[in-house]
Amino acid sequence: MSWFSEVQQGSPVEVFALTKAYNDDIFENKVNLGVGAYRTAEGKPWVLPVVRAAEKALANDDTLNKEYLPILGMESFSTAATRMLLGEDNPAVLQNRTFGIQTLSGTGALRVAAEFLAQVLGKKIFYYSNPTWENHKLVFKTAGFEEGREYRYWNNATRGLDFDGLIEDLRNAPEHSVIILHACAHNPTGCDPSTSQWAEIAEVIKERRLFPFFDCAYQGFASGDLVKDASAVRYFVQQGFELFCAQSFAKNFGLYNERVGNLTVVLNNPDLIAPVKSQFTLVVRGMYSNPPSHGARIVAHVLNNPELYNQWQDHIRNMSSRIIHMRKQLRETLEHLRTPGDWSHLTQHIGMFSYTGLSEVQSLHMVKKHHIYMLKSGRISMCGLTPQNVEYVAKAINETVSS
Ligand code: PMP
Repeated sequence: MSWFSEVQQGSPVEVFALTKAYNDDIFENKVNLGVGAYRTAEGKPWVLPVVRAAEKALANDDTLNKEYLPILGMESFSTAATRMLLGEDNPAVLQNRTFGIQTLSGTGALRVAAEFLAQVLGKKIFYYSNPTWENHKLVFKTAGFEEGREYRYWNNATRGLDFDGLIEDLRNAPEHSVIILHACAHNPTGCDPSTSQWAEIAEVIKERRLFPFFDCAYQGFASGDLVKDASAVRYFVQQGFELFCAQSFAKNFGLYNERVGNLTVVLNNPDLIAPVKSQFTLVVRGMYSNPPSHGARIVAHVLNNPELYNQWQDHIRNMSSRIIHMRKQLRETLEHLRTPGDWSHLTQHIGMFSYTGLSEVQSLHMVKKHHIYMLKSGRISMCGLTPQNVEYVAKAINETVSS
């Protein structure tokens, strides 16, 4: 008898299982379109030069030590992160009614905030887009939410947003539900609401007394413009909403494994900061006590140094423009091959991912026959495309949708 003999096999996490299958594949022209990480035009991971520069400066700084950080993290990091999201001249910043909490990347920010919402505020229902980043459900459920519900998002016929469905589902949501919104570069579809659609979404959220919780994993990485990618969040704050926003520095700093994140909290009254912070402190204390320093020091070093900050903006412009270029090339090659269907959505979408519209059977065929690894939902990561493999991928899609 073992204590563990009743443990059932858990289901694998698709994206990690896919990467393992890709790594184990010995086919020469294999392509990984599953991976959610930036690759250079040569298909290689990229450590940003500003990150290297910051690490060198930190290594030479004898004043730094390995003492514990405060429970809510490093203030020079979290303040800079919150300002990067909201802008210096944001009313919530000027009125001192916002603060940041350093978290274990974007996932950690989501989890800490979800724990707070469930345990301190007693929230029970959360809404997520259909489809969404697959981890939202697990994070919110394990944080103590009773029920997760979908709101409509993707219209496969138009390969765009099902805006009417989205609005109808939010209108029918019970008061006090928490609504997870992707701040920009929706994962997995790559399809974002327009400015006027965001305004309508905000109106319904206000009217129905719902709580907006933004997930911002791609600021700057999506369009190359930090302001543009934060515009939905900033709009909500300007409209007077109290909200949470989970920020990840995995993509825009290439710091995937350093787990650098921030939870921006916006309140409508500065007097609420002290009690709210005290409850967050207890949530974090009970989970992991306090965060690690290395990644946060790197980001703080760059965000608080005007010269490095400018260089970093060049880096994010490089990354986003390579992705936008690959979107264009893939679409053009598919159209050149007269691939059945309309491929214009590939260039209308934004960020790392796109829903191709390929079915599960077709997506599995791409993996099995062509060694092109993609999620069975039909999602591809543009980062896996390079000038060398884009034609191979387009031909494979052409063969798959034609057969
Ligand atoms: N939210 C979304 C929508 C994401 O795509 C990701 C990254 N895949 C995250 C959150 C969190 O990533 P991380 O924890 O690595 O910051």
